[in-house]
Amino acid sequence: MTDLTDQVAIVTGASRGIGRAIALLLALQGAKVVAVARTAEELEELNAKTQGLAIPADVADEADAQHIVNETLSRYGRLDMLICNAGVGSFGLLEHFEAAEWDQMFAVNVKGTFLLCKAVVPHFKAQGRGHIVGIASDVSRRTFEHGTAYGATKYAQDALLGSLRKEVRPHGIKVSTIYPGMVDTYFNDSKPGSAAAEKTHLRPSDVAQAVRYVLEAPAHVVVDELMLHPVSQEW
Ligand code: NAP
Repeated sequence: MTDLTDQVAIVTGASRGIGRAIALLLALQGAKVVAVARTAEELEELNAKTQGLAIPADVADEADAQHIVNETLSRYGRLDMLICNAGVGSFGLLEHFEAAEWDQMFAVNVKGTFLLCKAVVPHFKAQGRGHIVGIASDVSRRTFEHGTAYGATKYAQDALLGSLRKEVRPHGIKVSTIYPGMVDTYFNDSKPGSAAAEKTHLRPSDVAQAVRYVLEAPAHVVVDELMLHPVSQEW
């Protein structure tokens, strides 16, 4: 088993929802968590609990992505894991989407994953190890009405991570992709915590446990893909 104590992990989209749960769980395992999101106040509130490093940044901005990695290395002198979790989504008929809304979803979900991976891979290659975990979605594997934009981003993110897995494997770098079904978060302006969602949705902590599982795999094992759903969800 890989011991997470003192391992340094960048978690994007850590201010709320799934990312926050991942950050809290990794900190509980003794990891040094570098929490990234755009909203500084929520990050600071989280960081008071995790005692790591909070970096307000936009994952879709190339300079920000490099800044996140530079700041991490300058604070801790090491980097072991990247959790690409930041994501946005909205849903509707194709003809009702504004092009700018489409661009924003691709910027965060796809370009953000690309930029953070691009920033960490040279470092991981130099040290001959590292672990990238991408939070994709079950809709990376199925199409649905009103999902032309979000679904396309999640297919693209999945393809990016799958190809990267093959590129970096010879360098000892692991890439794991997690595919959650519906999760009770703030996603798409939802309000988490309703009694109904308890039956119909995963909790953010369920996804965090899946991330912990793939990160704790023994050094010689990579969990390539892991899909999880609430029992009640048909897909
Ligand atoms: P959420 O509660 O809305 O949280 C999204 C997080 O991403 C926030 O911390 C947000 O912080 C951050 N973020 C958004 N845009 C960003 C940017 N440009 N740069 C940096 N951080 C940014 O949503 P969630 O459900 O936890 O979603 C997390 C991931 O899970 C997403 O990739 C989503 O596609 C995936 N997912 C969600 C579900 C679900 O049912 N909820 C299911 C499958 C997969 P700021 O706004 O402060 O930047």
